[in-house]
Amino acid sequence: MKILLLGSNGQVGWELQRALAPLGEITAPTRTETGGVCGDLTRPDRLAATVRQVAPDVIVNAAAYTAVDQAESEPELAHAINATAPEVLAAEAQALGAWLVHYSTDYVFDGTGADPWSEDDATGPLNVYGQTKREGEAAIQASGCRHLIFRTSWVYASRGRNFIRTMLRLAADRAALQVIDDQFGAPTGAELIADTTAQILSQPLDRAEISGLYHLAAAGETTWHGFARLVIATARDAGWPVRVTDQAIEAVPTEAFPTAARRPGNSRLNCRKLETTFGLRMPDWRGGALRALDEILACETTGGSA
Ligand code: NDP
Repeated sequence: MKILLLGSNGQVGWELQRALAPLGEITAPTRTETGGVCGDLTRPDRLAATVRQVAPDVIVNAAAYTAVDQAESEPELAHAINATAPEVLAAEAQALGAWLVHYSTDYVFDGTGADPWSEDDATGPLNVYGQTKREGEAAIQASGCRHLIFRTSWVYASRGRNFIRTMLRLAADRAALQVIDDQFGAPTGAELIADTTAQILSQPLDRAEISGLYHLAAAGETTWHGFARLVIATARDAGWPVRVTDQAIEAVPTEAFPTAARRPGNSRLNCRKLETTFGLRMPDWRGGALRALDEILACETTGGSA
């Protein structure tokens, strides 16, 4: 299988390089044109030419404009990367007969209610990021190409900047913390997203009916406050220098931290469609979070830079 992987330096893309490796030959272009291939999503002409040159069986697009607050002041750039580029990839996939794997977000929903969102539920993004991600989904769906769109939530990884690392730093520096407790979702490891993608791509892809949109998130739910408490308690038990006590991690509403972009309160995703279609079971969010935390703590202790 020939795979064209875009965004290979991001949280999910990095894990995809590992998880997809046994499936075939991976071409993972960077944004800089090298050897006639270019992975810059702001250059539709170069992107299309790259797909034609590589002629992959599967295009995996893990690249995205993910700066949620910044997107409010850069809507054109967010639209180019999150909507126009997927549209170009979908047109090329359709012309080639290739599959397009693409990632989207819980932020396509308006966050009302308390039920987990299903794939058929009406979308209603609250911010530019969510709007552009929805436009990307719609463009792929309209293209007629064979596709797998995976909507996921609250992505973390042991590598790069992320919520776990931020909480470790704050817990060591401060005697008290405030963390949002009225947004609900499932922290989902980049590792789980990549491994699930690989599992699915290793199944027979000749079933045209599997083409579609799926929710892909860890099982269970928490809030950012619940996530922070798990991280900090585990770090303390592991001997990490934690100043803040459990009692001093204050649960606060979203309004306590005004941000440029509005965020949904309900980010729960119902993953039953993915589980039944592909015979998979999404594991509870805590397992992956504890593994990533373990890796980060080991790396920090040995002076590495994950
Ligand atoms: P990251 O922000 O970690 O990575 C995004 C990647 O996109 C980076 O490698 C970045 O490159 C690349 N990129 C950005 N702009 C361009 C461009 N113009 N051309 C080429 N590449 C570009 O994202 P995640 O791995 O966390 O996200 C993966 C997917 O999951 C995305 O579709 C995202 O929308 C979705 N998602 C993410 C969530 C999250 O909490 N992070 C939640 C829900 C869904 P560089 O490293 O050079 O900047």
